[in-house]
Amino acid sequence: MIILLKNDYKKEDLLTLLNYLKKIGADYDICNGKNSSIINVLNNADRVDVSFVKDLNIAVSINTSYDSLSLVKRKDGQRDTVVNVNSVKFGGKNFSLIAGPCAVESEKQIIEIAMQIKKAGANMLRGGAFKPRTSPYSFQGLGKEGIDILVKAKKETGIPIVTEIMGINQLDYFMDVDVIQIGARDMQNYELLKEVGKSKKPILLKRGFSNTVYEWLMSAEYLLSEGAKDVVLCERGIRTFETTSRTTLDLSSLPIVKSMTHLPIIVDPSHAVGKASSVKPLALAGATCGADGLMIEVHNNPPFALSDGAQAILPTELKNIVKNLNSILPIVNKNIIKA
Ligand code: PEP
Ligand code: MN
Repeated sequence: MIILLKNDYKKEDLLTLLNYLKKIGADYDICNGKNSSIINVLNNADRVDVSFVKDLNIAVSINTSYDSLSLVKRKDGQRDTVVNVNSVKFGGKNFSLIAGPCAVESEKQIIEIAMQIKKAGANMLRGGAFKPRTSPYSFQGLGKEGIDILVKAKKETGIPIVTEIMGINQLDYFMDVDVIQIGARDMQNYELLKEVGKSKKPILLKRGFSNTVYEWLMSAEYLLSEGAKDVVLCERGIRTFETTSRTTLDLSSLPIVKSMTHLPIIVDPSHAVGKASSVKPLALAGATCGADGLMIEVHNNPPFALSDGAQAILPTELKNIVKNLNSILPIVNKNIIKA
């Protein structure tokens, strides 16, 4: 919270304000400029009664828009944070491509797809072992066995792996996982955020499909406040009135998030649109809007996929997307993808 003071404020009113801030446990800095003074409330800003401060008649304005985003927010002139996972980098000039199936189905499937996506230019393999499914009767994922398969694929191909965690009790299984994904449905599972943040592992934080940018960044703040450093945000679409796509890919969030935070942001066109034929244009649009990477669902046999087959593209299609991305990336000041 930033309180801009009137030039002619009364000293006793300032003392009342400072006493009030002390009483509610809010630390502050006072910056006295040549022409004006500001009070920067550093913590517990949510406890400040704005109408009480207004009634003191001491402030020109009270800015609450960035409250509590102290670790996530981009400070004046602050550069992009570059998240580096085994040399796969997100942020700055770096653009990285995560690809793989919705779910880990078998060792054969994952090893085959890992080799194919690597050949196409992807730098990280995705695959769900613990799957958050709408129906309890749908395939729920292979669980720990799925993670063991991903680790095997990593050893065979040298490609780092990202997979979703759904509960604190699963954390022990994630020791050899390079990036822990927190899915849309768990973006506000604060106990999970705290524990995953404490693990200090790189984290991919997806946007909840009914959450605002502010809520999403506040969830990232949870991770950073617990000690996490390597956090990548993932825009994956939000619910709107539209029913022809799975969700609406909120491309507006990209430049906005970039201005609000130093953390990298990637786009997941697959879960956003839910249709394989629409993945490519949205992937290219994401890159054009300044994404630091993409996450795309790829399957070697989509009609037989155990989940999200309708949105899965083939490895050959991924190769084609990479070719087109490489025409766009130099325009947005990003390094091209080397296949
Ligand atoms: C996923 O990436 O596997 C997934 C379930 O996506 P989301 O959390 O964005 O729905
Ligand atoms: Mn999926």
